Amino acid sequence: MAKQLIDQFATTLPADKRASVYQSTKATHEKRTKMLFDQFDDPNRLRAIAGGIKQHVIENLDTYLPAVEAKLRANGAQVHWAATAEAACAAVLKIMQARGATKLVKAKTMVSEEIELAHFLEKHGIEALETDLGEFIVQIDHDHPSHIVRPIIHKNRREIATSFEKHGLGAYNDDPQTITRRAREFLRQKYLQADVGLTGANFVSAESGRIVLVTNEGNSRFSLAAPKCHIALVGIEKLVPRDRDLGLLLNLLARSATAQQLTVYTEFIAGPKLAAQPDGPEEMHVIFVDNGRTEVLASECTEILRCIRCGACMNVCPVYRQVSGHAYRSVYPGPVGAVLSPLLAGKRFPELADLPKASSLCGACHEVCPVDIPIPDLLLRLRAKGKAEGAPRAAAGTPPMGAWALLATQPTAWKAALTGGKIINYLPTKLLPIPPLRAWEKERTLPEWRGGNFRRWMKERKKNAQGREPKTNG
Ligand code: SF4
Repeated sequence: MAKQLIDQFATTLPADKRASVYQSTKATHEKRTKMLFDQFDDPNRLRAIAGGIKQHVIENLDTYLPAVEAKLRANGAQVHWAATAEAACAAVLKIMQARGATKLVKAKTMVSEEIELAHFLEKHGIEALETDLGEFIVQIDHDHPSHIVRPIIHKNRREIATSFEKHGLGAYNDDPQTITRRAREFLRQKYLQADVGLTGANFVSAESGRIVLVTNEGNSRFSLAAPKCHIALVGIEKLVPRDRDLGLLLNLLARSATAQQLTVYTEFIAGPKLAAQPDGPEEMHVIFVDNGRTEVLASECTEILRCIRCGACMNVCPVYRQVSGHAYRSVYPGPVGAVLSPLLAGKRFPELADLPKASSLCGACHEVCPVDIPIPDLLLRLRAKGKAEGAPRAAAGTPPMGAWALLATQPTAWKAALTGGKIINYLPTKLLPIPPLRAWEKERTLPEWRGGNFRRWMKERKKNAQGREPKTNG
């Protein structure tokens, strides 16, 4: 994980990585927009309805969580509650140790990344293998995901082929089909050997206790085919009130995440295998994870808990496109991460307080969010929180915005600065770069100063307009 502040990381990102993140996010965003507006009369109304459903759930978790627990138990599942990351990891370990289990296959779950489950289990002698292709590549590379839907958005096929060769998955071959076939052959054996299959949950219906999983590779289905035990790690905000709400949310999720009408594999799991069913896990555990979510619920940014992890805000964000996911120093990158990660960090909030500042506040993230989260408003609230809590100010090299603010709020000083600023254009070049802007200028070129003429231009415009006004007879 990157150690630098987000703007410092951005200056070190290689051009090829920036290009692959930019191209991939742009293409997905364009497809998403076309698909939504071609297929629905009023997608914005659907986003508002979806946002309302999720907001209702998070404001009534005290009702819905006991309700879903009762349903899950009635369906034959065992329910556990984990207040912290440590408690969630310990719960998984306890379930595995009780069964004498040593091998776990894992479908993609953001909560498991958040609590660093794989690392914890490995320390306790348990093999925890990622089965989503992107996550698998990240795992063998000891890397971190760079996008919540496309974990390897920052890698090209040559890098992946090199990793496969290094980890004994065949001689170098960067043909995508060969890479995929090799991963498939390797993972199929692992599915058969696993004792436990672990998944997350995209949604959980409080009405029926059904857990909903979506994948495009079918790996969650494979993870539950051979193992006799299923563990689902679920953030407490993942509930929906009724099964019928899933119709809207699944439609919006697939289109927003990958520009598909529906994700290829959509599974509804109501409980462990019934006696009459031929196969499937005989034991099912659902671990509801808090890990800071109740603090988020009590914060000034409750709305972020509506998030359904589609990644659309990343795809459209001009900052994410330039810096990539690793710059956010947390599991959740992009606009959602700039809000959620500092909040989930709790007392460590000041360490991530630079993230809410990494936004132009253009509003694109809000426009695409399928659950209508007002991300720019939340970013502003977190900027205020950072200031109030004494978070570190700007990184070295940031232009002196305090001086700018002072000038911009004093009309006379502002006028004088604009007029006097022209001097920059006549300074001998050897005196440049101007000392306070030196770091800034390493990445950019100072444009020619053309300020100071706006008032004159406005005055002339007004005079001309008056001259053109029709004469009245009165
Ligand atoms: S904040 Fe909205 S757009 Fe971003 S990942 Fe979450 S649901 Fe998707």
